Amino acid sequence: MTEDKVTIQEFKLDPDCELRFELESKNEKMTLELKSGLAEVFGTELVKGKKYEFTCGAKVAVFTWQGCAVEVIGKTDVSYIAKETPMSLYLNCHAAMERMREVAEKDDTRGPILMVVGPCDVGKSTLCRLLLNYAVRMGRRPIYVDLDVGQGHIAIPGTVGALLVERPSNVVDGFSQQAPLVFHFGHKNPSSNSVLYNLLVTRLAEVCSDRLQANKKAKVSGIVINTCGWIKGGGYKMLTHAAQAFEVDTILVLDQERLYNELVRDMPDFVKVVFLPKSGGVVERSQIQRNETRDQSVREYFYGSRTPLYPHSFEVKWSEAKLFKIGAPILPSSCMPLGMKAEDNLTKLVAVTPGPSLLHHLLSVSFADSPEDDVVQTNVAGFVCVTNVDVERQTFTILSPQPRPLPNHILLLSEIQFMDTH
Ligand code: ATP
Repeated sequence: MTEDKVTIQEFKLDPDCELRFELESKNEKMTLELKSGLAEVFGTELVKGKKYEFTCGAKVAVFTWQGCAVEVIGKTDVSYIAKETPMSLYLNCHAAMERMREVAEKDDTRGPILMVVGPCDVGKSTLCRLLLNYAVRMGRRPIYVDLDVGQGHIAIPGTVGALLVERPSNVVDGFSQQAPLVFHFGHKNPSSNSVLYNLLVTRLAEVCSDRLQANKKAKVSGIVINTCGWIKGGGYKMLTHAAQAFEVDTILVLDQERLYNELVRDMPDFVKVVFLPKSGGVVERSQIQRNETRDQSVREYFYGSRTPLYPHSFEVKWSEAKLFKIGAPILPSSCMPLGMKAEDNLTKLVAVTPGPSLLHHLLSVSFADSPEDDVVQTNVAGFVCVTNVDVERQTFTILSPQPRPLPNHILLLSEIQFMDTH
């Protein structure tokens, strides 16, 4: 009897306090409801009386500027109220961005281009979400760029992408992913092909710059860029490359004074580099948990989260699709054709012969019409996953968000795999 008893907890929060909770147990759910006052989750206001349902893996903070009472129904693994938070510092950053937007509006120039950097698990994605939410709540339309190929908040892991943010993120599911602009990278770690990574970042920056020029509201609102937690050696070089490509004017460094000092030293004078502490609430994730969130993000792409999606499964003849991967092994310069550098091979389109090794791999469906187009720098329409390979009949079965036929026949192989256990 006692085991089935529903746990109901009511929390009263003073102004500037935060209720933090985590839900780790599988099959457990919990419901959050704002009873009185005002509160927000990572910058999205809670609606009084509305029930928000969280499932396993949720790590959430309910913050209040004015004070509030919330009710939590269900068993959480961790729940406590924190009085110390860096929220007022984060709000100051938003206020500074807002001032830059006002100037941009007046002078018809570009708004702030801000990049958030720092090691793993310091709350980079959360800070981006907060700043984007505060901006849309002020009527702005910023672009969110995600360069973190390990998690892939805009599409799925192994991609970089951009999204015009038109409304605050959903409290439970994050930003709505309508019409994102996505490029295929194919690895979960940028170090797997740094030449390709930098090429895609440059391309994404060009497209974002064009979009800003075409949309006055977005131009004034600017861009918020999320980055990878790899900040040493090659990772640092990639950050400085991204800053240059996007012509970033503000860098927020979370939790690492060394990185802060390196950026102050290396960035041109017009780039403001700001050090910010991380929130004590940010939860560190183990490698296993990271793999789980990666898997979860692919599962949600195909099956949805709260609103279920019903993906299709169908066979594709090998002859119906043209399969490629990006990057061939580096050859010594002496073996390269005249005028080509050894590293050019890393961004080369390489035909892949279908076979059993495709099983469980994700494939990006390119918007390119022919291999003669610039497939590497063309954005992708979506993703499919290979769930079976029949060598005898020369077919593979794919899981696809859309029914047959494939929207396009150029497919790009990702090293990332997904086991469809649905
Ligand atoms: P990565 O290393 O993957 O780039 P990150 O630095 O972007 O990580 P986040 O993803 O923002 O870090 O945060 C890690 C986790 O901590 C997330 O699940 C997030 O929901 C949670 N989190 C962030 N801030 C808080 C907070 N104040 N209270 C409770 N949980 C939080």
